[in-house]
Amino acid sequence: MILAKGLVLRSTGSWYDVRDSEDGHVWQCRLKGKFKNLGLKVTNPIAVGDYVRFEVEDEGENFGIIHEILPRENYVVRRSVHKTAHAHLIAANVDQAILIATLVFPRTSLGFIDRFLVAIESFRIPGVLVFNKQDLLSEEFVGFQDELMELYEGLGYRCLATTALDADSLHEFAALLKGKVSLLSGHSGVGKSTLVNAIAPNLDLKTQEVSTFANKGVHTTTFAEMFELEAGTFIIDSPGIKELGLADIAPEEISHYFPEMRDLLNQCRFNNCQHINEPGCAVKDAVSEGRLALSRYESYLSMVGGGDNRR
Ligand code: GDP
Ligand code: ZN
Repeated sequence: MILAKGLVLRSTGSWYDVRDSEDGHVWQCRLKGKFKNLGLKVTNPIAVGDYVRFEVEDEGENFGIIHEILPRENYVVRRSVHKTAHAHLIAANVDQAILIATLVFPRTSLGFIDRFLVAIESFRIPGVLVFNKQDLLSEEFVGFQDELMELYEGLGYRCLATTALDADSLHEFAALLKGKVSLLSGHSGVGKSTLVNAIAPNLDLKTQEVSTFANKGVHTTTFAEMFELEAGTFIIDSPGIKELGLADIAPEEISHYFPEMRDLLNQCRFNNCQHINEPGCAVKDAVSEGRLALSRYESYLSMVGGGDNRR
C-alpha cells in the first residue's frame, strides 16, 4: 500500500481535509481504527497543522484514510479544568503565536498579554506581539507602548507596531507571516480581520462561526481552521482566545514560563519559594531593584492566585 504525506488543513472531529504534500490536492479523510496519540490525553487525535500519512480510498469520491500522524514539533491544547478530562487539541506544528493587541479601543490589559505569553511558553512556541491601531494613540500612549515594546523585546518576544490602514504596516505584517505557520489571537475588535483581509483579500476572514459539536455531552468543542495566504504561509485562526487557557498549569510551574524569572528561581532561599511573601526571594529582590518589571510580577501574582484569574 502506498501512503502519501499530507497536511491537515481542517477538521470537523470525524473528517479531515488533508492536502497532499506532493500535488496539493485536498482529500477528505477519516481515521482508521483507534489512534494512539503519543501519550496525549485528548478528545481529538489530530489537529490542523498535523502532518499525516494517508491512503487514497476512493478517488471518485475524493475519500482517504489517515494511517499515521507524523511527529509534532509542538502542539497547542485547550487544557481541561478537570484533571481527569481529556484536553482538546487545537493545532500542531505552529511556528509562532501572534497576539494582536491594542492599547486603546479596545484596551488589551497587560495581564492578558502576560497570560497569553505564559500559555505559549508552556507550549514552547515563539510569541510575537503586534500592537495595532497606532493611529489612535495619544503621545502619552505612544510613550507607554514604546516602553512595553522594549520590555517584551528584551524578554525575547518580537514586537511590531501597526496601523491596519497603513501600507508600510501591512508590508511588515505580511513579512512577519511569510513562510510560517502562525496562530493568530486577539480580543475581538483589535483589528485581526482587518489586518489579515488587507494582505489576503481573497480570504475574507470574517471571524467565522466554527460549527460547534456536542462532545460526549460534556462540553462543546470548536475546531480551528488553517488558511494558506500564499505558498508556505499559513495562519490558524483560533476559535477563541480561551483556547490558550492556563487551566491546568500548576501554580508552582508558572514562574518557569516567565523567561526573566527562570534564572532567579534557584537563587531564592527556599526551594519551594512561590515568590509571594517568602524572605530571601530573588524574584522579589529583582522587582524592588527594577530588574524585573512590576507589571510582569503583578501578572505572575494574579496567575498563581488561583480562581478565575487562572483561566
Ligand atoms: P477583529 O475583531 O479583531 O477582527 O477586528 P476588526 O478587524 O473587525 O476591526 C475592528 C474595528 O477596528 C473595525 O472598525 C476596523 O476598521 C477598525 N480597525 C482595525 N485596525 C485599525 C487600525 O489600525 N486603526 C484604526 N483606526 N482602526 C482600525
Ligand atoms: Zn522566590
